[in-house]
Amino acid sequence: MWEQIYEKIDALYNRMVEDRRYLHQHPELSFEEKETSKYICNRYDELEIPYQKNIGGYGVIAKIVGGKPGKTVALRADFDALPIQEENDVPYKSKVDGVMHACGHDGHTASLLAVAEAVLPFKDELEGTMVFLHQPAEEYAPGGAKPMIEDGALEGVDAVFGTHLWATTPVHTIETTNGAFMAGADRFEITFKGKGGHGAMPHQTKDPVVMTGQAIVELQQVVSRRLDPLQSAVLTIGVIEAGEAFNVIPDTARLQGTVRYLDKNVQDQIIDEMHKVLKGISESYDAEYELDYVKGYPPVINHPAETEYYLNEGKDIPGVNQVNEVPPVMGGEDFAYYLEERPGTFFFTGAKIEGHDYPHHHPKFDINEEALPIAAKALVHGYKKYQES
Ligand SMILES: [Zn+2]
Ligand SMILES: [Zn+2]
Repeated sequence: MWEQIYEKIDALYNRMVEDRRYLHQHPELSFEEKETSKYICNRYDELEIPYQKNIGGYGVIAKIVGGKPGKTVALRADFDALPIQEENDVPYKSKVDGVMHACGHDGHTASLLAVAEAVLPFKDELEGTMVFLHQPAEEYAPGGAKPMIEDGALEGVDAVFGTHLWATTPVHTIETTNGAFMAGADRFEITFKGKGGHGAMPHQTKDPVVMTGQAIVELQQVVSRRLDPLQSAVLTIGVIEAGEAFNVIPDTARLQGTVRYLDKNVQDQIIDEMHKVLKGISESYDAEYELDYVKGYPPVINHPAETEYYLNEGKDIPGVNQVNEVPPVMGGEDFAYYLEERPGTFFFTGAKIEGHDYPHHHPKFDINEEALPIAAKALVHGYKKYQES
């Protein structure tokens, strides 16, 4: 049966490309994916597969209940796009100004729909229940995974698998790792509240620009001097805002940035150390600070047994000839929430277009469509292995 399902997925190649290109031309931003959700529902209507819609927002959950007893395994695909103007000159270019599928979620959706269509004819022979989680709003915290889970998406589910098409990894390659695979991703905003005044009379002010300068340097030392060198973290400041005139000291100054980490204890420690640094600086200037720290997605922590299905047996998937165990990626993913609740794993399916090598979220990002059936088969592989376990 599995061989036939894999063959059926290959036979659905044109269908996948069609779905992917339609979605690529009609991208919708996170939390606004009404039409995308409708498109997915229409496809399940055509296939006559039962589904529920509006789960945790625009989420859609379809199910194929197999004719034989077994475990319930969920396969997930996200479907939101990004606020980016597409710069690719392709027939399937985005038709929406300033919005683009620049992360490949159009491809994830097409692959998962193909899995449903390929498995359906084998329903009676299938062991267990296959659950299709079509998730909105991955790109923007608090994301779509959490509300879907709160709405019952994992009820009765034993394990969950997900993949990301990865545009910088060659086709026919799968990449993953055991344990922390993607980082926790937080954002913060710091405001120094000083006292403004004349640029020539600094002694009458509490200069927040100077405090900001100190903070930028000292915050770098949270990672380099306070964390255990064997722990990984990033603290990046991406925005500095202060002042409007060259000879005026402003009242306030603002910094914004992001923290990435792989271990929750590290996250706690970083927040703690940031407060110490900011308190020290502001006190020494007789000023005040505010730290608005927003916790984003937790790290993606892959479970060992399910990850081994790919690391050890990934080459059994037709179309996969290379499996790489890779170091964690410091990007974030709300797939993390599923793995906090259930066993499972997340992996990359290589989707690089040779000679057109742009990273995710780039205006020229594109995926190699040959990867679509491989991603579909790789998800089926997770289901199959989990049933056998
Ligand atoms: Zn993305
Ligand atoms: Zn993505």
